Amino acid sequence: MENGEYFALDEKSAAEYACAKGFFCSQGANVRCKEIGDGNMNYIYRISDGEKSVILKQAGLSTRLSSERSISRKRNRREAAALEAENEILPGCAPKVYLYDETMDCMFMEDLKDYTVLRKALIEEDRIFPDFAEQISSFLAETWVRTSDVGKDHIQKKYQVKRFTNPELCEISERLVFDEAMFNLSGKNSVEPENELFVKTNIYQNETLHQEAGKLKYRYMTEAQALLHGDLHTGSIFVNELGMKIFDSEFAFYGPMGYDIGNLIAHLLLARENARQNQKPAGVIWEENTVSKIPEMFVVKGMDHEQVQKDAFEKILNKWYYMGILEDTAGYAGLELIRRVVGSAKAEDIVSLGQGKRAEAERRILEMGIDLVLNRNKFREPGAFKNMFVRSGS
Ligand code: ADP
Ligand code: MG
Repeated sequence: MENGEYFALDEKSAAEYACAKGFFCSQGANVRCKEIGDGNMNYIYRISDGEKSVILKQAGLSTRLSSERSISRKRNRREAAALEAENEILPGCAPKVYLYDETMDCMFMEDLKDYTVLRKALIEEDRIFPDFAEQISSFLAETWVRTSDVGKDHIQKKYQVKRFTNPELCEISERLVFDEAMFNLSGKNSVEPENELFVKTNIYQNETLHQEAGKLKYRYMTEAQALLHGDLHTGSIFVNELGMKIFDSEFAFYGPMGYDIGNLIAHLLLARENARQNQKPAGVIWEENTVSKIPEMFVVKGMDHEQVQKDAFEKILNKWYYMGILEDTAGYAGLELIRRVVGSAKAEDIVSLGQGKRAEAERRILEMGIDLVLNRNKFREPGAFKNMFVRSGS
């Protein structure tokens, strides 16, 4: 690190590097370091002296998923900037970034050791979080109000769009969420054998679905509405009894607001299916309530916000705008459901189910996903998400 060149850290050098940067610098401190990452692209070190601890996240040499494409390590800079922006939007909603190091493509951040990743808390620990809809809808509404054009400063907003342009990570989503999910171009998709014919007929050969997914893809690429997290699933949110924290923001970019809300809803629906298959009614009820409440709370908090422009065009346009966001929410939720069943990055909620249950769960999720994409225009009112559960009757 003295000669100013990047190198990939390991547990030993990460601890030394933390000390060199002024963390844990007291004489004789017994500094320990452990790699705790479970992602595909980055390395996460927890460094501790027994009292204090920090997290060090470094962008790896190449992605761990595949070496075919290398993604610029500068994604770490964008992630640090996004975490800081999220903390400005809603103070305390993301880990605090202590230091970003341009040379080493890494950052030090707050250790959220008192929190659990939401997906794990739901499917492994059977916990529920009564305040989660309230908390996450505040984050979503504040994001919409403070980063989109419903706020006042349109010039600043355009500079932010430029700052958060994220070509390489957006390309990953364009490929995996849209192209691969619809066409299986790389041949890497898979489902349980019982569902292969269903997927071929209803997804890979479904031209109507392709057309609608294509429209959503072009909206994803062109609608710079608000600063998105870009990968807002239950594995990107930490929770405990006191609150929640958003993390892993490297996919952040300005895109359609409904993409983030839709992603989140899709993953709550995946958790619901897990709870349903495992006969955990408390989980099912919580997930259904949370899916129902998030769009309602988002709209109320967003529309009533003091920062929302209430004159001239905006007065009439804001309602049109949020209705479009809800329609997008349904569409992107549908695509995320499909992609997490057929695609290569599968949802743990479904994969972890036993053999017989898994095929049935896949089918139910795929049917729901296709319906959400094709009938997304029925979701232009916040109450429509609640009806989804009434309609399906389970
Ligand atoms: P990747 O970008 O490679 O997916 P993540 O940011 O998702 O990496 O982090 C991987 C894992 O490391 C998380 O699931 C979590 O368990 C742990 N982790 C990441 N950031 C923190 C943090 N600030 N505090 C505590 N644990 C963290
Ligand atoms: Mg990540």
